[in-house]
Amino acid sequence: MKRTYSTTERIKKVLAQEEGTIFKDWGGKLPIALVYANTYRVGMSSLAVHTLYHLFNAEPDVVCERVFFGLRRFPAPTDPVVSLESQRPLAEFPVVAFTLSYELDYFNVVRMLRQAGIPLFAAERETHHPLLIAGGPAVYTNPEPLAEIFDAFAIGEGEVIVPPLVDALWEAVHLPRPAAREHLCAVPGLYVPDASTEPVARVWVRDLANFPTITHIYTPHTEFGDRTLVEIARGCGRGCRFCLAGYVYRPMREMSPETVLAVARHGLRHRERIGLVAAAVSDHSWIDRIATELRALGARLSASSMRVDPISEPLIRGLAESGNQTLTIAPEAGSARMRRVINKPQSDEQILRAVELAAKYNFPQLKMYFMVGQPTEEEADVQAIAELVEAARRIFPRNMAINATPYVPKAHTAFQWAAMTPAEAIEARVKYLERRLQPQGIAVRSDSAAWAAVEGVLARGDRR
Ligand code: SF4
Repeated sequence: MKRTYSTTERIKKVLAQEEGTIFKDWGGKLPIALVYANTYRVGMSSLAVHTLYHLFNAEPDVVCERVFFGLRRFPAPTDPVVSLESQRPLAEFPVVAFTLSYELDYFNVVRMLRQAGIPLFAAERETHHPLLIAGGPAVYTNPEPLAEIFDAFAIGEGEVIVPPLVDALWEAVHLPRPAAREHLCAVPGLYVPDASTEPVARVWVRDLANFPTITHIYTPHTEFGDRTLVEIARGCGRGCRFCLAGYVYRPMREMSPETVLAVARHGLRHRERIGLVAAAVSDHSWIDRIATELRALGARLSASSMRVDPISEPLIRGLAESGNQTLTIAPEAGSARMRRVINKPQSDEQILRAVELAAKYNFPQLKMYFMVGQPTEEEADVQAIAELVEAARRIFPRNMAINATPYVPKAHTAFQWAAMTPAEAIEARVKYLERRLQPQGIAVRSDSAAWAAVEGVLARGDRR
């Protein structure tokens, strides 16, 4: 499908509002399309897109351009699939690299390839077609559902894989496909379906300080347009049994406070708000110092996630002083029994202490995240969610909302073999929470239990 005038104009408007876009001449370089199979707004909110864009373009012999599943919230099937930087059709790139963090985006992968006129299955593609690579936590924990579509999968972290991958791609793009796949097998961390002969070990960054992960492109059209995102740690040492992030980014690695502050100073030149990113921000060994010193630099703070055991009062205070409207905590389960099962044994007292701090620092809204349908969950556990939220309601007088998300077991977590709770049972439990909590002015949000079942199949399924 060709680009159209209106698409080109729309892209130019978006680019005009970006800072940090890289435009390179294609001459003598290997063009790589970096694809996020969701909209621009969602994709540009992902630090993975920023990091990979930066890593690929740091290679002098590569030109990397971004492609999204449309610029609009609901892309039309006729929207052309073109890159932002040069507006070239996806099919013109010799290499197409998808980063996939969410299984339900696989449907968009198929739609994008069809719209771009690229044969869907690897076996149907020839040397003049792009080589398709996929990475990201969704596929590197279980690439098999997409094994017939992609030529290779990156199993691990981009910082380690990109340089040898680029070297291998220079040769692979000119080889007949069977030889190209053989060639890619030699790249550490690359899984090539039907060609890799050994299990592929995940590769990961030994020292994060060598690869500061921050916002590289600023745009108002993302969820985080008002801030510089700064990764302060990767991985998590807690081992909650349901948590994909806790397993796939092991071991936990921290950025030193000095590096965080140096990177944040750079970010403050672009935005006055710093978004601290980690699997569990408050677990950073130096979080109190980081929060206090960033505030002293005049930064407004945001945090992607936090534990309540222990809670960091300097961080909570910093978030409140920075004008954050919502404090979010994630008990995940209502009963102490269920929290032991999932290995997130925060006590009711610790959770309610965080609620007290939310009240003390006058947050306008409190959000509590729970999952429903976790292994061994019974009615009493769902009732315990309601009781815990009611206890929080007695402490916190302003807006309250809970997320009761259907639990989806993921590959490589401790619950990878657990049965999924049927969608009807999950819906009934969410309805119970709505009936009980909404009359008390507490919003209850959830995702579709039916789509969660589809996500579960893709997260643990195979090629069938
Ligand atoms: S849920 Fe949070 S604390 Fe638990 S493993 Fe995941 S990131 Fe760590």
